[in-house]
Amino acid sequence: TSRHIQDDMERLQDTFAGFRHKYRLIKRIGEGTFSTVYKAEDLQYDSYDNSWDLDREVEKWTPPPLRSFPSRSGASLGGHAPPRRRRPKYVAVKKIYVTSSPSRIYNELELLFDLRGCESVCPIITAFRATDQVVAILPYFRHADFREYFREMTVPDMAIYLRSLFAALRSVHSHNILHRDIKPTNFLYDPASRQGVLVDFGLAEREGYDCKPCACHDQRTREALRHRKIQIEGGYPREDTRPARRANRAGTRGFRAPEVLFKCTEQTTKIDIWSAGVILLTILSRRFPFFNSADDVEAMVEIATIFGSRRMQVAAGLHGCMLETSIPTIGKSGFSFEGIVLWSTSRGTDKEELSDDERLALDFLKRCMDLDPSRRISAEQALQHEFLQMGLE
Ligand code: ADP
Ligand code: MG
Repeated sequence: TSRHIQDDMERLQDTFAGFRHKYRLIKRIGEGTFSTVYKAEDLQYDSYDNSWDLDREVEKWTPPPLRSFPSRSGASLGGHAPPRRRRPKYVAVKKIYVTSSPSRIYNELELLFDLRGCESVCPIITAFRATDQVVAILPYFRHADFREYFREMTVPDMAIYLRSLFAALRSVHSHNILHRDIKPTNFLYDPASRQGVLVDFGLAEREGYDCKPCACHDQRTREALRHRKIQIEGGYPREDTRPARRANRAGTRGFRAPEVLFKCTEQTTKIDIWSAGVILLTILSRRFPFFNSADDVEAMVEIATIFGSRRMQVAAGLHGCMLETSIPTIGKSGFSFEGIVLWSTSRGTDKEELSDDERLALDFLKRCMDLDPSRRISAEQALQHEFLQMGLE
């Protein structure tokens, strides 16, 4: 209720000394599992010269001195050339729930500081902490709800949208960071200005952090490691894991890459490319959400239905899994993306009905949704693809 939101806003403004002099909360703009985000006016906007010095702000920010925080010091948060930008009049105040672990909060802020100044990534202005409550201040970015515009997008519109998203991914990945939660609500896009920014590094991590060798990175051990059997029968998996595998599975259902579902222990930045591919598939097929699985097993079934059991088994094998399924809807060779797009947009089965632009988009889609992460296109290569070059020059 709005009463409840008002109370929360009052409480937040009272948590931080001097908050009311700096910001005026306007409204709640987002509420997720890990945070609540408010739009606010920067009250000191007029008293500055309309620019802010990010490094000066960063210096003022002291990492919370909780003992459970990783030992990396606040010093690593400075150091770059100060990017000067226009000081924004409106900001997004992201209140991170106290139930999030301190290391998780620290991780999100640290990665955001590392990525400040990157193309198409929403920069952090500053952050403060009062005991266990942390807020991050970001420039407010005007955007529309994905569900309101994706059905109207032409193929060139899709190319412009994805160019912005892949520019963000190129920056993030060149810092060896995996975003892990690429989906429409984390890519704020303004169809009017045709600009977008990537937000929400709450699940992001550095590549190679918490990694154990997986067969997908070492062909020779692949056979030896193939001891995990996944049986899918009527939706119930029987997975004999000897020993049980632990892998990062963070992300949003429907957007998880196959290697995440197969519990690959050596995940790379390619997981974000798959998720970006799912966004494109959603737009091309005009269906949101495209994948609707409740859990990882259902997600495997959905992907297997498209790709067919044969290719899915090969994909499982890459990560040392044996996949067995007796579900009748999963055929041996699956369906083509062309067929899926034609069918879901109520056209015939004749591929001639696809426009040249759509064919180009589908070619790009196949490169993003390659079941094998090592063969999947990188963000850098994607930006060179003819589809993302569309409309340039
Ligand atoms: P969560 O971890 O809770 O998902 P996000 O960082 O994704 O938090 O933010 C949640 C929502 O708040 C976003 O989907 C978006 O609608 C809004 N939001 C976040 N950052 C901004 C921003 N800088 N400008 C405008 N809206 C934002
Ligand atoms: Mg989010």
